[in-house]
Amino acid sequence: MPKHIFGRSTKGQLPTAVSGDGCYIIDASGKRYLDGSGGAAVSCLGHSNARVRAALHDQLDRLAFAHTGFFTSDAAEALADRLVAEAPEGIERVYLVSGGSEAVEAAIKLARQYFMEIGQPKRHRVIARRQSYHGNTLGALATGGNEWRRAQFAPLLVETSHIAPCYEYRDRAEGEGQEAYGRRVADELEDEIQRLGPETVMAFVAEPVVGATAGAVPAVPGYLKRIREICDRHGVLLILDEVMCGMGRTGYLFACLEDGVAPDMITIAKGLGAGYQPIGALMVSGAIYGAVAGGSGFFQHGHTYMGHAMAAAAANAVLSEIEERGLLARVRTQGDKLDQALRGALGQHPHVGDIRGRGLFRGVELVADREAKATFDPARKIHAKIKAEAFAAGLICYPMGGTIDGVHGDHLLLAPPFIIEDAQIDELVTKLSGAIDRAIA
Ligand code: PMP
Repeated sequence: MPKHIFGRSTKGQLPTAVSGDGCYIIDASGKRYLDGSGGAAVSCLGHSNARVRAALHDQLDRLAFAHTGFFTSDAAEALADRLVAEAPEGIERVYLVSGGSEAVEAAIKLARQYFMEIGQPKRHRVIARRQSYHGNTLGALATGGNEWRRAQFAPLLVETSHIAPCYEYRDRAEGEGQEAYGRRVADELEDEIQRLGPETVMAFVAEPVVGATAGAVPAVPGYLKRIREICDRHGVLLILDEVMCGMGRTGYLFACLEDGVAPDMITIAKGLGAGYQPIGALMVSGAIYGAVAGGSGFFQHGHTYMGHAMAAAAANAVLSEIEERGLLARVRTQGDKLDQALRGALGQHPHVGDIRGRGLFRGVELVADREAKATFDPARKIHAKIKAEAFAAGLICYPMGGTIDGVHGDHLLLAPPFIIEDAQIDELVTKLSGAIDRAIA
């Protein structure tokens, strides 16, 4: 038996991935897989990007590692400048880490430190949403709302409560306008802050477009603006987790730019390194940075590999590709095509309840009964069966069960590379439709 322990399963053996070619991964037998989910919304440039490879060689030839306790690097400084230049208003500083969980963990710790620094030590509670994933380290796990992930580790270290997500497909009442719905569901934050006591609440954390746990569920127009108002009213920090939906995935470098909302902190990862390097970042407002810089002067946090020059070099090349090849616009046009193709093939399918998302970040929710929006019996693991059927047919899509409450509901997440061609969109949708039919039959 192989000795490399994969995180997800101890059952069976996975094929060995040996090479990449644009939107395809090739295994040891020569089989080609269309990467319909970019792994997990990671591989935004595909698998053989020349500019990223050249940037990595160049950095490696000069210097791979210098500890951030002693040095900065041109690559890390350039990356921070570029991210800030594109960020929502008020975001002024960047803390480079090695992935999404680390970015969220850093956000929670920095929020806590910020309130200590400004003399509000009672603020320690986090509010997030039931439908959310923010990572797997202890603080990030406590923040996420997905019950089955949390249960076996309770009690968790960060005191978090969870309100309703913005989940239009299932929650918007008949006749209720989108904006009215957004306001109603955002107002649950007001109620929760009141219930906990505003003076104890530190931060509200949310994904602008919910990724893994719900299958590309975007906030309705106005929702995040209302959330921002409520946070401001009570001095609560707004942390937007864009680990999955950020870095161009929705057609905007930061998804919240489309919502017209500027948070106090943003977390990014995945697409930032496009899979070529492990990298993430916590981006924070000038006010938060200023409080720490003018207070203790030291963020009480750090990891050995933060700000790694190789990772920063890859991320700089990723940003150059996005900018110089006009990939944000391409994400919007190819995203619309993917949406149309999905609707054409699956819009009337008896077991497809909803098709949703933004840009090249799309979700398909499966139902046992379309009219009643009834879910499949969770024991059938429909999402996993579709993943397996698609994989056998040479398509990678990202499945998840427990869409609604951590137990019920199945969906698939699609997040192909930004370079996906029209013919590959057709291939994706054809293989996906076949996989859905075979899995449910
Ligand atoms: N936040 C969100 C929104 C995510 O989707 C993920 C990963 N799926 C994480 C945080 C954690 O990121 P990582 O797996 O890189 O630690």
